[in-house]
Amino acid sequence: MLTLKDFQREEQPNWCPTCGNFGIILSVKKALMELNVPQEETVLVSGVGCFAKLPYWIKAYGFVGLHGRSLPVAQGVKLANSKLKVIAFGGDGDGYGEGGNHFIHACRRNVNIAYFVHNNGVFGLTTGQYSPTSKKGTKSKSSPSGSEEMPVNPLALAIASGAKFVARAYSGDPKGLVEIMKKAIEYEGFAFVDIMQSCITFGKEHDYFKDKIYHLDDSYDASDKVKAMGKALDYEETERFALGIIYQEL
Ligand code: SF4
Repeated sequence: MLTLKDFQREEQPNWCPTCGNFGIILSVKKALMELNVPQEETVLVSGVGCFAKLPYWIKAYGFVGLHGRSLPVAQGVKLANSKLKVIAFGGDGDGYGEGGNHFIHACRRNVNIAYFVHNNGVFGLTTGQYSPTSKKGTKSKSSPSGSEEMPVNPLALAIASGAKFVARAYSGDPKGLVEIMKKAIEYEGFAFVDIMQSCITFGKEHDYFKDKIYHLDDSYDASDKVKAMGKALDYEETERFALGIIYQEL
């Protein structure tokens, strides 16, 4: 059986202390450990952003590529060797901005990979410009008078683009995050998880999420696509975020 130590590298992450990325990297290791996925059969692919350093610090195969381009690389790896477990990582800027077109087509193409997006609502690596998921009116270095654009709704976009596994998780909910990651990794097809992440330096701090998140319970039917679209859209009205599998085609 694998242990967490098996995934540990000597180098330590250099993210800001208490950044939500720490919760995500630990959850990835735990999910792989609990699924007992051999490291030599695991490939982690990322692009550019604070999140994108994650493959540096997990002992498995990894590829850190261009901004917004983790999905084409990850799909290529899977097509070249279908025995590998391939996980692509994105950021809200990298994945929904620069990589937005790849995201749409990965949803409808349904290659058997998992895609985890670290969504902190800001370009953290370049010191805090507003991103595609920043709320309208967000003031930042690149939008001193407030951003003009409506934010992207990643879950609604994924469902509308044909994704068959669409989930939301939160970096400060390790138990729930590990469970969703495991389901996504095991899903036969493209499994997308939008992970709301705190960025304590330029974005939302942990407290912001406290009263806004809630877990979907057993009465929620994730196979109903119309209801799933409603659930994906409802935070725009309520500012409350449902955690769990929002849509899964049976
Ligand atoms: Fe994390 Fe934000 Fe620091 Fe980047 S800038 S490491 S996202 S806290």
